[in-house]
Amino acid sequence: MRKLTDKLAQERILSRGEFAELLTCEDDYLHEAARKARENIYGNKIFLRGLIEFTSYCKNDCFYCGLRRSNSSAARYRLSKEQILNCCDEGYDAGYRTFVLQGGEDAFFTDEILTDIIRAIKCKYPDCALTLSTGERGFESLKLLREAGADRYLLRHETADSAHYAELHPPEMQASARQKCLRDLKELGFQTGCGFMVGSPKQTLENIVSDLLFIKELDPEMVGVGPFIPHSATPFAKEKAGNLKLVLNILAILRLMKPSLLLPATTALATIENQGYELGINAGANVIMQNISPLTAREKYKIYDNKIGASENLKQRIKNIGCEFTVARGDYFNYGEQ
Ligand code: SAH
Repeated sequence: MRKLTDKLAQERILSRGEFAELLTCEDDYLHEAARKARENIYGNKIFLRGLIEFTSYCKNDCFYCGLRRSNSSAARYRLSKEQILNCCDEGYDAGYRTFVLQGGEDAFFTDEILTDIIRAIKCKYPDCALTLSTGERGFESLKLLREAGADRYLLRHETADSAHYAELHPPEMQASARQKCLRDLKELGFQTGCGFMVGSPKQTLENIVSDLLFIKELDPEMVGVGPFIPHSATPFAKEKAGNLKLVLNILAILRLMKPSLLLPATTALATIENQGYELGINAGANVIMQNISPLTAREKYKIYDNKIGASENLKQRIKNIGCEFTVARGDYFNYGEQ
């Protein structure tokens, strides 16, 4: 496996068969190489993002997600502009310089309402980056959000394979629509993040290889990868959660494919494993997103079961593995790898 790891580190791409082999490898060499690749660019610095879950309403019906519209037991809320700005105030004082607005696809947040919130945040905190994670929107809508000052956008592609996509979503949702949206985001100059769940129902290793190749081709600035975790009030309630080792190998492979990637150790990873953040960082991740939503909202934003809250001793935990948080916007840094 050393040979494959070295090849990936050098060429940044492998064949489908080689990717499949490396995905299942048990050798720590892969993770060491990924750590080194990260350190070459980012040193021991880890970026912190303040996550504001601003609405739990969603018009979509994704089979895996607890916020799906068919889940009548889900508690619904939306934060006001003032509540969102309060989150930013507290977050800024705590050292956050990136705010991420994430939510269900909530038609209440029209372009007009959302751009007003974006402008208010960017006006108050011009030194902060603003990331949106508000689902699929049309080109003109995304353009308005960009012009209002949003810097980044997270929209996981979920799975690059359209047949697998259809196993996870109702027929009105299409892999191609999501991918088009990702290309629009790139065109509009957003730092763009795609990503997928590991171990979602019916996912094969071949599907994951397709995800890696899709990522290679899209060339995003960020990639979010975490384990699938079942939610009790969804059609996937009885399914198994994703595999920890596979998640870590994927993080390491992504780091080697694209050394300057912004790559979070996700909340889902930290939910299936106590040391999830540390393990993710040691496999090449360099971002942690912490929930800074009001407590009342956190209880209601349940995309999967047992989702953990913000970790209190995170600073120390990161220090213990030789890394440190940096108070910086943490923009994507392209050193010309592609
Ligand atoms: N509505 C936004 C935000 C979705 S939540 C959007 O469409 O982009 C962010 C991510 O959480 C999703 O993209 C999905 O990959 C992940 N997610 C949803 N349900 C999950 C589950 N049961 N287990 C693990 N991750 C899940």
